[in-house]
Amino acid sequence: MITYVNTLSNTIICYNMFMKILKTNKHISRVIKKAYKAIEDLTPLEFDCGQLCNNKCCKEGSEGMYLFPFEFQYLIDKTDKDIIHTDNDFDLLICNGKCDRKYRPLACRIFPLFPYVNNKGEIEVKFDLRARNICPLQFKDMPEIQIQKRFVKRIKNIFKKLIKYQVFYDYCRKLTEEINFLKKFY
Ligand code: SF4
Ligand code: SF4
Repeated sequence: MITYVNTLSNTIICYNMFMKILKTNKHISRVIKKAYKAIEDLTPLEFDCGQLCNNKCCKEGSEGMYLFPFEFQYLIDKTDKDIIHTDNDFDLLICNGKCDRKYRPLACRIFPLFPYVNNKGEIEVKFDLRARNICPLQFKDMPEIQIQKRFVKRIKNIFKKLIKYQVFYDYCRKLTEEINFLKKFY
């Protein structure tokens, strides 16, 4: 009898855990889908910036793109790319320069910008220093290079919402610090 009750209560605990995981996964899906959709229709310039550099970020950034929190769980059963966990505790989507655009990571959608989190915990969307060796959009003095204000504003709005999740805040803060460290070398 005791064995039966224990088995039953274990089954209920497992079921509850399963439901919790299911709800969490559904929530994660919603968050990432919403973020992807919010930036779907916008690109850095009014025209395809790949024309300026022959799509350098896909071709030369082909070792991979870091994933934001929740993206691993969202993309794992959708992408045909490998995702590895790096020594510095990031998820990296291995990329060979081609992908199904529907499932390209958030980092690709906002490239070459990054949502820096300043010391006050506010988002500042600026050029991502890690793109300095490949992306011509850093040259603001060229007349054809005018990053659309609405692209920047959209990224800011997306990340203002996302950093309400502690994991997002921590991730953006950690990368902000790493990218700021790079400034010493420029
Ligand atoms: S490297 Fe810069 S300019 Fe070239 S496609 Fe990527 S974002 Fe556009
Ligand atoms: S995942 Fe897609 S968009 Fe991102 S770098 Fe690779 S080919 Fe380009």
